[in-house]
Amino acid sequence: MPDRYAVFGNPISHSKSPRIHALFAAQTQQDMSYDAILAPLDGFATAINNFMAAGGRGANVTVPFKEEAFKLATTLTARAQAACAVNTLSFHEGAISGDNTDGAGLVRDLKSNLGFDLAAKRILLLGAGGAARGVILPLLEEKPATLIIANRTEEKAFRLALEFAGRADTLPEACGFAQLAGQSFDLVINATSTGLSDIALPLPPHLFVARGLAYEMVYGRETPFMKQARAAGCRVADGLGMLVEQAAEAFFTWRGVRPVSVPVLAALR
Ligand code: NDP
Repeated sequence: MPDRYAVFGNPISHSKSPRIHALFAAQTQQDMSYDAILAPLDGFATAINNFMAAGGRGANVTVPFKEEAFKLATTLTARAQAACAVNTLSFHEGAISGDNTDGAGLVRDLKSNLGFDLAAKRILLLGAGGAARGVILPLLEEKPATLIIANRTEEKAFRLALEFAGRADTLPEACGFAQLAGQSFDLVINATSTGLSDIALPLPPHLFVARGLAYEMVYGRETPFMKQARAAGCRVADGLGMLVEQAAEAFFTWRGVRPVSVPVLAALR
């Protein structure tokens, strides 16, 4: 029997994770299976426990269960603790360890796939929800000159900045969108959920610089944020690389082998 893994979410039929992990497994010759499992909205813990009881070795967790997975885990990595959310579970003799590979996935995509070094750069993170929280510590650990968190609801940005103060050499700052006027950044990351709709954020035109990078966490569509950045002459990337790299990090956690993600990313594109 191959070792069993799965991704749990609701909805889940759109998930690219089974394809990504099948490509990783073929590339590294791992004997494993990876399914997509729809967990009922009120039945995530039961679905995970059933999967464990049936011999499951590990799981990925996606919307809307990352916070529940955080609570379910019996041990947590430092990056999962910082994110207050778990996207990777590993099962061993009844124990459930929880990790969060989203931030590491973003940083690896930026550095390895996009060739963008974060050290001493001015970074703007738009959004203060779960996705933003998950990437703050890994971004700070790259020693940027500045990391500003800007959010529609300003208090949430301030709370996040305060929470991560002192966790790394760079002190995160916070503001609302109006305070971005007159500022520009080497890297602008859109971690709001506006990419899933056609809502354009109220961003000042000089925010993006020509030699900079605009990173949209959403993938599979040209979002208003991407259009705004392109219009300013800025290089643009979507979140597909982050998705593949967070999966590679989870795969490494489970199997102890790091897959090469470039061909997998190319296959998905
Ligand atoms: P949350 O619901 O936790 O947070 C949503 C964020 O978007 C908040 O900061 C919210 O601001 C902001 N927002 C929503 N609507 C608007 C609007 N009309 N104008 C301005 N700001 C708005 O979502 P997540 O953080 O979990 O996810 C964010 C995005 O990241 C999703 O689109 C998701 O698909 C993507 N993602 C991609 C990943 C990848 O691997 N590529 C991994 C994880 C997430 P406010 O606080 O004011 O409500």
